[in-house]
Amino acid sequence: MSNRRNFIKNAGLASLGVLSACQMKPKENTIESRKKGPVIKPLAISTWKNGMDANVAAWKVLSKGGKAIDAVESGVKVVEANPDDMSVGYGGRPDRDGIVTLDACIMDSTGNAGSVCALENIMHPISVARKVMDDTPHVMLAGKGALQFALEFGFKQEDLLTEKSKQEFEKWRLTSEYKPLINIENHDTIGMLALDQNGDISGACTTSGLAYKMHGRVGDSPIIGAGMYCDNEVGGAVATGMGELVMKTLGSFLVVELMNQGMSPQQAVEEAILRIVKKIPGYEEFQIGYLAINKNGEVGAYSLHRGFNYALYADDSNNLIDSNYYLK
Ligand code: ASP
Repeated sequence: MSNRRNFIKNAGLASLGVLSACQMKPKENTIESRKKGPVIKPLAISTWKNGMDANVAAWKVLSKGGKAIDAVESGVKVVEANPDDMSVGYGGRPDRDGIVTLDACIMDSTGNAGSVCALENIMHPISVARKVMDDTPHVMLAGKGALQFALEFGFKQEDLLTEKSKQEFEKWRLTSEYKPLINIENHDTIGMLALDQNGDISGACTTSGLAYKMHGRVGDSPIIGAGMYCDNEVGGAVATGMGELVMKTLGSFLVVELMNQGMSPQQAVEEAILRIVKKIPGYEEFQIGYLAINKNGEVGAYSLHRGFNYALYADDSNNLIDSNYYLK
């Protein structure tokens, strides 16, 4: 195996609707500000606690008037490079063969999208996904082809399995018990949405997927419409949790389409969770969390189980908020 490795070198603010009101209000009620029309206030929202650091990086871009697409890429890269985050990038838990395989996708305000899946030995799959988006006529590259593409663009091959991940894996291997239950305390896939000063929306999602998954298993995170989706006329959504449930319901697209049909972000994420409840037997065994934003900067967050939280950077303040949830 080491040869193989070497070879591959409370709904909180959301439900209160606080943000929506702020987003559309002119800063001051002066004739001048009214003439300019609504002031768009940028925001960044990310899944889980590790989203706090990601938001700080995204905010550096947004607060200077930068683009949402650059904000989401820089934001999630912080988590990809963090070895303590064991569900994303460097330090991510390996599959059952001991190999770290990464999935990521990105989508911009023009509707362009890029994605990589089952990518090995590259620290920043999100940047490879961005290259796929910007520099190829394709949306998704997989496995060896994705690696070859990354190397051609100058990405470095690195061993992403940290000592800590390796030790945990060696322990797991003693029993090799595979029950892909989501440990809701231990989920760190990063999905991020941003709204920039121009009112443009972009999203990114990156993960090492389920720990000890079958080699070759790809989750929802790199699938445009499942792990993440944006429609610049409507809003964006990201998902985290047991990817198979999100894929079977095309969760992020569903959330955005529900907003397109008139729902608020909060209503849309709740409906997408209900869809899983209605359609997928055994859903109680798994955690799923959705985040959504719309063009007005309203946000929504909802999960199946307690324990999902998200980081919201808006109005110059970065906060970790507990999501409301279905199974009470
Ligand atoms: N959605 C990811 C997957 O199924 C896992 C996660 O969000 O933690 O690969």
